[in-house]
Amino acid sequence: MVHCSRERLDDKIKTFSKFGDTGKGGITRFSLSPEALQARGEFKKRMEAIGATVVTDDMANMYATIPGTEDLPAIAMGSHLDSVRQGGNFDGVLGVLTGMETMETIATEKIPHRHPLTTMVWTNEEGARFEPAMMSSGVICHKFDKAAMLASVAKDKPGYTFGQALTESGYIGSEANRLTADKYAAMLELHIEQGPVMDTEGYDVGVVAGVCGMINYEFTFIGQANHAGTTPMKYRKDALYAACKIIQYLHDELDKLDSALVYTTGKISAHPNIHTIIPDEVKFTLDARHYDPEVIKQVLAVIDKIPAEVERCAFSKEEAWARKSVAFAPKLVDTIEESSLELGYKTLKMFSGPGHDAQFAADILPTAMIFAPSEGGYSHCEQEFTSTEKCAKAVDVMLNAVIKLDKSLNA
Ligand SMILES: [Zn+2]
Repeated sequence: MVHCSRERLDDKIKTFSKFGDTGKGGITRFSLSPEALQARGEFKKRMEAIGATVVTDDMANMYATIPGTEDLPAIAMGSHLDSVRQGGNFDGVLGVLTGMETMETIATEKIPHRHPLTTMVWTNEEGARFEPAMMSSGVICHKFDKAAMLASVAKDKPGYTFGQALTESGYIGSEANRLTADKYAAMLELHIEQGPVMDTEGYDVGVVAGVCGMINYEFTFIGQANHAGTTPMKYRKDALYAACKIIQYLHDELDKLDSALVYTTGKISAHPNIHTIIPDEVKFTLDARHYDPEVIKQVLAVIDKIPAEVERCAFSKEEAWARKSVAFAPKLVDTIEESSLELGYKTLKMFSGPGHDAQFAADILPTAMIFAPSEGGYSHCEQEFTSTEKCAKAVDVMLNAVIKLDKSLNA
């Protein structure tokens, strides 16, 4: 088994944490901001120093590639360099540093490899200044309309579009450089867990088998507003009471499904919301998540059983949005797990709750993810932390998985 350099990785973490440093342990590094361009410059400089060729595509995603000994599609690694406001030094950037460290280890130790190796930087993963999140992977994996994305306006500067920021960045390249299945054999993204499970349970490495699917509904109950003092109970059409009955019904029925299902009613509104008036319109949301599409189907069946009339109120539902579960490529997932176990690291096979660029990439080519633990489960804040030793263990898994895949893919 090969190990990455702890010192070199530590230097990378410390260097990149300067670009957008808040002075309080974190960074603010919006996509294409001056700080983000500094980070891109450092990435390019370090990759060129090991002999990589760096190109960009039409969404300014970066690709640093070292050649292999055979004419084969490349094995790609990568993540994003942008952050949320007052974010941490690990979300996204650790995945880019992992690709860099993997390639630097292979280059300096002269480990032979048949496939070209690429480290990628995805543009605007966070969507912190220009919405939506996962914007550029969404465009190149055919989820989002490019023209609509270029028209996305900065939250802090009226009229200033993502398209303008992209042009001004100087990083627009050719559409021909996009990640595609003919030029790339696999895509691997390392990310911090952003949750408490691995740290609490003492795991070194998360082998991510997929991304949880989710559904998001808004339910509406229409009753009749009336005087609280004069309307007998039997004549009432109380929309809030109807909504309560259905919240209770959902809990009773959803609790009978798989115990890994999580669901939440996080938002509720009552109209007119006055203490002397019977509510005539109540809305609430339901967010449900599970990795198995069959369980999501069972949730939908429970929702479908709600009658059109509840306690004399009209019931209607609207799907606000949904995300399909993503299953990562089994061969890649197995190779990652095997590498982690062979390194002797405590390994957890798991699913990702949050979304990542890799889930879009999974639609166009074999893809998988590796998780490093987040100390205390903190993320998207300045307390976000993973020790260099813990980061290095996850990088070791990437390094050995890439070496194995280089032998087994296109064999
Ligand atoms: Zn991220």
